Amino acid sequence: MENPILFYSTNLQATPVAFRKALLKGLAPDRGLYMPMTIPVIPLEEIYGYSGKPYHEIAFEVTRRFMGGEIGDQELVEIVTDAYDYEVPLDHIYERKYVMRLDQGPTASFKDFAARMMGRLMQYYLKREDRKLLILTATSGDTGSAVANAFYGLDNINIVILFPRHEVTPRQRRQMTTLGKNVRILALDTKFDDCQALVKQAFADPELDSLNLSSANSINIGRLVPQTVYYFYAFAKLRDKEHDEEAIFSIPSGNFGDMMGGVLAMKMGLPVRKFVIATNENDEFPRYLHSGKYAKIEPSRNCISSAMNVGHPSNLARLVALYGGMMDEKGIIHKTANIEEMRNDIWSVSISDKKTRQTIEEAYNRYETILEPHGAVGWAGLMDYLSSIPEEDSPGRLCISLETAHPAKFPEEIEKILHIEPELPPSLEGIDHLQEHVSNLENNYEAFKEYLLKLEVRT
Ligand SMILES: *Cc1c(COP(=O)(O)O)cnc(C)c1O
Repeated sequence: MENPILFYSTNLQATPVAFRKALLKGLAPDRGLYMPMTIPVIPLEEIYGYSGKPYHEIAFEVTRRFMGGEIGDQELVEIVTDAYDYEVPLDHIYERKYVMRLDQGPTASFKDFAARMMGRLMQYYLKREDRKLLILTATSGDTGSAVANAFYGLDNINIVILFPRHEVTPRQRRQMTTLGKNVRILALDTKFDDCQALVKQAFADPELDSLNLSSANSINIGRLVPQTVYYFYAFAKLRDKEHDEEAIFSIPSGNFGDMMGGVLAMKMGLPVRKFVIATNENDEFPRYLHSGKYAKIEPSRNCISSAMNVGHPSNLARLVALYGGMMDEKGIIHKTANIEEMRNDIWSVSISDKKTRQTIEEAYNRYETILEPHGAVGWAGLMDYLSSIPEEDSPGRLCISLETAHPAKFPEEIEKILHIEPELPPSLEGIDHLQEHVSNLENNYEAFKEYLLKLEVRT
């Protein structure tokens, strides 16, 4: 009998729960985020052995450790096999520097990795228990389409997605609005942070209890766990089999779900030398890591890497918790984290839009690789790290930068900079001609609540 891992809330006022409960709740009742109380460790020999396995088998081995036997091995195998039926290219750039392309899923975003598995896990539990769920999520771009796509057409689940009208590209919008069925899309004339605040308020509202609300934002532990897997995958495939070594990962970051997946993977035993956390001009995290003082950015700054326009990353509370501190959902630090230890694992930098554009141009001219704005922030961050810490810049050092979306999702920027039109992946073909379903919503909690209560989705 396995010892189930329990998940505690970062606000420390809620009872720890097992995986199923944390997954279906999303946010803990005290508004904190769920974190594992103990982190399962995978022996190095097992990690090395992943080198010959397909992605979905690695996903099974890594994620089952968090589920504590609440789901049968056979069911979990079916879920990961169905969720991960696409490629995960590791493009060689120069020396031992690689770009991991997490853009081959159905919405051409790395968010497919988390959303597809979370959706299938939720459906598994809901069907077994004959219950319904209403998913509320705010998106600054790719979350919405990945979540909408992952849940589209599933039984027992309805979805409402809020997005800031002016921070999302037409193609990103169409990926959400052209679905219909159980997917409802609300456009707001405001910033992502306001959309997120409305969603958080709804979760805390007891008058909405009958709707059985859940979240699919990166605050859900069900998204974090699948995001540990690609770090294991990339390392096992690329490592030098003659030597023990550690890799550097560069992660373009906004809400820090991707980074938390990486940091968890490291705590599970993955040999990581450093995480480079690259943000756009929303530089609250690099400032915090540098000074130990945290100040969110309000309102968040509009950058071309629009899915990372986040002035207060919700997953930061998790990082602070992992390093022994306590940060509440408003960003107030009640107990300081061990910043020295954090700096030992993480290096962080803010990349301007100007630098992002230059990087897209350079990567193309020098290496014939097309990066979109988010991946370019990651690559620029890696280059900055290697040039500011010269002893790390050796030809033999394994470095993996994450490309989080397909360049064809941001054709406007790519065309302006490179004067080429990125080829559409098969998953994006055709959506330009489908009908859109979208409603407008004012930035007002009462209006949002009224909308939700009118939906016929009670359990
Ligand atoms: C969401 C997103 C990010 C940021 O990921 P976080 O987990 O929120 O840090 C980066 N790039 C793209 C394309 C995204 O959609």
